[in-house]
Amino acid sequence: MKDVFYSRVLKPVLDNILSFSTRNALCIDEHYYSYSTFGKAISGILHEMLKTNYQSQKVGLVINDDIETYASIFALWLQGKSYVPLHPDWPQARCIDICEQVELDLILDSSTESRYAGIRVITTRGKSGVQPLVAVDCAEDVLAYILFTSGSTGRPKGVQLSRGNLASFVDAFFDRYSLDEQDKCLQCFDLSFDLSIVSYLPPLMRGACVYTVPLDEIKYTYIGSLIEDEHLTFALMAPSTIRYLKPYFDELDCSSLRYSLFCGEALPEDVTREWSECARNAIIDNVYGPTEDTIFCSAYRFRGDCKNKSHNGILSIGRPMKGCEMAIIDEKQNTCLVGEVGELCLAGPQLTVGYYKNKEKNEEAFFVKDGIRWYRSGDLAYSDADGDIMYVGRLDHQTKIRGYRVELGEVEWHARKFLCNKNVICMAIDNKDGVTEIAMFVESEEFNPDEMNDYLRSRMPSYMIPTRLFFVPQFPLNSNGKTDKVKMKTLIK
Ligand code: AMP
Repeated sequence: MKDVFYSRVLKPVLDNILSFSTRNALCIDEHYYSYSTFGKAISGILHEMLKTNYQSQKVGLVINDDIETYASIFALWLQGKSYVPLHPDWPQARCIDICEQVELDLILDSSTESRYAGIRVITTRGKSGVQPLVAVDCAEDVLAYILFTSGSTGRPKGVQLSRGNLASFVDAFFDRYSLDEQDKCLQCFDLSFDLSIVSYLPPLMRGACVYTVPLDEIKYTYIGSLIEDEHLTFALMAPSTIRYLKPYFDELDCSSLRYSLFCGEALPEDVTREWSECARNAIIDNVYGPTEDTIFCSAYRFRGDCKNKSHNGILSIGRPMKGCEMAIIDEKQNTCLVGEVGELCLAGPQLTVGYYKNKEKNEEAFFVKDGIRWYRSGDLAYSDADGDIMYVGRLDHQTKIRGYRVELGEVEWHARKFLCNKNVICMAIDNKDGVTEIAMFVESEEFNPDEMNDYLRSRMPSYMIPTRLFFVPQFPLNSNGKTDKVKMKTLIK
């Protein structure tokens, strides 16, 4: 029996491969690939996979920016497999840790040379075939992907999302947005980040063309030029992208955009208003959601002609999308009153089954109330009388760097390990351009940090490496005897 993920998500893409065969499906590094070429790449990779006769459900995918990597995702889904992204630029140790956590024994890799020894690798580079694209029968609860996000205990944790979760997201997405074969859509995210999925999947379901951003490009300038030069019509970006683009707003003409969505971190109203001049024909939405609730689950529509709902200059995250449920609860799990700040909890068909083999984290993050399973987002919020939700901040030490989730505890854990358990505290700070950076305080006399930085770079992706470093011979304490973080912050100039 075919599941809803096949009928609602995969089948439309397969239909487009036939009916829009000569139209462009992808533009990667200035090369266009038609739907027909895309279909052939999927077919070639499927053929290679069938030859190996592999049974494992979870397959590692080295996420290069090329047609083979996108085709691999569809080949895996047609085979009822899930993909686990392995970033080519992440430290080897981190990728191996992920492989071990999921016990991966198969990896699809389009690189010229694989860096995985001891695990079976299918080389997908240049593969092409003409066999029909046939899907196996699959249940909705079969996993579609596992994404590893920063973990406060020093190890990334795997969020498992099923085919049913993704089908529900797509349903909610098309309830609010419409795309067709004329659309040209930006895909500016690493495939390890779930915002990439909404940037390629709905467009391919409607016969549109997806424009990717090369991994090594200085992203924001490339993105600005891509939108302007290629007349893109749909763009989902992290708010930090427009913060970086701000100096170029006067020269930028993004009037081709029909939709401009922001997600991943707090969206300031003032920058959005300025951006709305560049993207003057676009519907601008602030969408919100964690990986655990499949990409995003609420949306707020920005209005250029009037005041918008906001808290401390941060735009509202709006109301739940179709099928999603959101509740704000207090410490006793009671629903907060209008205007009362509490923890934002999420439920509904987009909600993950949980973290991969992580009982402790699952017990902490999920609870059942009145028969409904809820996820504690760790976000602080309140709702107004209309039901619109205002984002207030975080309950914990999670922060966002260029849209990527970073647990400051994970950065501290690695630094402490290198420094033989010296005291280390990391804080998220906003620099003069309003861009968030990681500041690290080490309780020590000053030393040359090169070796430590090399160590950190060998353990964590580049966005997790602190960009400001302070040596404090003795951490100040507050009246409760705890490290006085407020005082420490004053050291930052
Ligand atoms: P991730 O799973 O990496 O997408 O991170 C999810 C977290 O990003 C959420 O729990 C929020 O803290 C933050 N986030 C995502 N979207 C927004 C938004 N529109 N406004 C404020 N914070 C957001």
